[in-house]
Amino acid sequence: MLTKKLNNGVEMPMLGFGTYQVTDPEECKNSVLTAIRAGYRLIDTAVAYGNEDAVGAGIKAALDEGIVKREDLFITTKMWFRAYETEDCRNAMEESLRKLGLDYIDMVLLHWPFGNVYAAWRVLEEYYEAGKIRAIGVSNMEADRLIDLITFNKVKPALNQIETHLYCQRLAEKVWLQKYDVAHQAYAPLGQGRANEMFSEAAVKEIAAKYGKTPAQVLLRFLIQSDVAVIPKSVHEERIKENIDIFDFELAADEMDTLKKLDKASPMIGRPEEPDKVEFAMTW
Ligand code: NAD
Repeated sequence: MLTKKLNNGVEMPMLGFGTYQVTDPEECKNSVLTAIRAGYRLIDTAVAYGNEDAVGAGIKAALDEGIVKREDLFITTKMWFRAYETEDCRNAMEESLRKLGLDYIDMVLLHWPFGNVYAAWRVLEEYYEAGKIRAIGVSNMEADRLIDLITFNKVKPALNQIETHLYCQRLAEKVWLQKYDVAHQAYAPLGQGRANEMFSEAAVKEIAAKYGKTPAQVLLRFLIQSDVAVIPKSVHEERIKENIDIFDFELAADEMDTLKKLDKASPMIGRPEEPDKVEFAMTW
């Protein structure tokens, strides 16, 4: 598995398995196990997904099967902004460790930049310094807030997980992430509900046919070659396998350029700077 060295030296797999909306416990456990059997080593969950215990059960099943050792895995979870006050965040961290069945978590992110971000960040720093988290980061954070967070805290975020796909490539944001050495991880790398629209792009289909790959594989490969880590989600075994089978071909420079031109810079979900989005988020 291709990895990326984070700004604190920790190696993170460039491809992982997303679990958003996988709420049925049995289905969640089985898809995590299927993903690990298929070679995924990074699993992405969150307090808000309500599935940390099922993800933990999938991890336990994989460990019991002997396919992996704990240190082979890279588990990410995210704190929810309603629990960003210091004691709430400490309690949430303990809950996450318990539900996942782990004595340390590889990556913990602040899910959204709302509420008491500073208090929550300092709790993550506390757990990081105590060795209970290997790397800490943020999600859905615009560059302006990120620079502020970096300036006034001890530990620099290792990663920003933001909506990124063919139609929302985040080229402007990437400049800032690179400047501050914060890794870029794509959520919704297949566009969540917009997958079919992207799969139908003529250029995507043409490149896929050339390499004998599927449009989904081309889109994931495109992000990885752009130095963007990806965490596609599926509960179907064939797709889980398909989405990791992207390390035996390489897009040419002109193909990368063609795909780059399809950017619409239009996020569907990740718009934390827009008042209507923030207002809506306050109802969550
Ligand atoms: P995604 O882009 O991974 O798309 C998932 C959908 O694409 C699936 O439901 C399926 O319908 C389709 N799909 C998957 N593989 C396919 C294939 N090979 N062929 C055809 N269709 C395929 O969307 P996502 O689940 O929203 O994002 C991935 C992960 O990112 C999530 O599961 C979650 O872990 C994380 N995420 C984080 C945030 C955040 O705020 N930090 C927000 C959304 C998602």
